[in-house]
Amino acid sequence: MIFRQLLDARSWTYTYLLADEETKEAVLIDPVFEQARRDCALLEELGLKLLYTLDTHVHADHVTGAWLLREKLGSKIALMHSAGAKGADVEFSDGDLIKFGSLAIEARSTPGHTSGCGTYVLSDKSMAFTGDCLLIRGCGRTDFQQGSSKQMYHSIKDKILSLPSSCALYPAHDYSGRMMTTVAEETEHNPRCGGERSESDFVGLMEALGLPHPAQLDVALPANLQCGEPTDKKPMPVEPTWAPLRYSYAGIWQVGAQWLMEHTSEVQIVDVRPADEIAGALGTIEGATLLALDNVVEEAQSLDANRPIVVVCRSGGRSAQATAKLMKAGFQSVANLQGGALRWSAVGGNLVSQAAS
Ligand code: FE
Repeated sequence: MIFRQLLDARSWTYTYLLADEETKEAVLIDPVFEQARRDCALLEELGLKLLYTLDTHVHADHVTGAWLLREKLGSKIALMHSAGAKGADVEFSDGDLIKFGSLAIEARSTPGHTSGCGTYVLSDKSMAFTGDCLLIRGCGRTDFQQGSSKQMYHSIKDKILSLPSSCALYPAHDYSGRMMTTVAEETEHNPRCGGERSESDFVGLMEALGLPHPAQLDVALPANLQCGEPTDKKPMPVEPTWAPLRYSYAGIWQVGAQWLMEHTSEVQIVDVRPADEIAGALGTIEGATLLALDNVVEEAQSLDANRPIVVVCRSGGRSAQATAKLMKAGFQSVANLQGGALRWSAVGGNLVSQAAS
């Protein structure tokens, strides 16, 4: 099985990718709207087909990426029927199974944080994704979204801690860098519901928490009640349209040599190699401007702000670094030439031994 744990650092949300290595069929648990580009890039680079997005509940602290990923990749949106969200393709009842390749996930109803929370259990019971029900040495809040401490106590005890003691548990969040735990650990050490804590101990503790409302509540709830479809407060992300760009999991925009060959007059080509390297065996693209890699942001200020920039080097590595620097500095239309001058040459592009400046 392919397994990845991904973090959205703004909301401290974990997203989980699970895929069958043979069939390449994949699911994403709790994707985040702002990370759809990243998630698509990872799926593409690993050659995976996203069948489903699974939300553990209607989140109040971030907007789900479910709707956006369905738009981009055609994946199906799945969550508990009791979540009450509009626009889902699959609505689980307790005990339902969802299959991807030779793998399957069981949806368990675990209300308490919200009335529509689910925990997703890998069918061999080696892993479970607990959402905001059981957290590492903690649990989700129960003071809004039809939460109930009493229900949560039983969800945790009967549906999660009843799994095999070695079962690895993965929550939707952790705010101090912890990434996973096990049934055995939480049974013993969870300060809220582990050890000898009774239902009334737990309920008393939860009632005394007094937490502030989540920062994104007003934006997240309306969007998540429609599976992450944009609203007035949460518009569509803006995608670059000047070229058929691909976003890499490394975090940069890339453009292909073939497209560049047909559109050289529309862009500014920047080469970040030293002049003596370009004068050597492998030259540069005619008309390219030479900028120093270690000072590329400052030197790029002299370029035409209205024309997109394509960055090139020998094989696409140093230019990727320059592209990342320019993107970070706020350049809107910039992309790396994927594969660099080597790729350009391989598809029949001409190289010259001297840059334009
Ligand atoms: Fe939540």
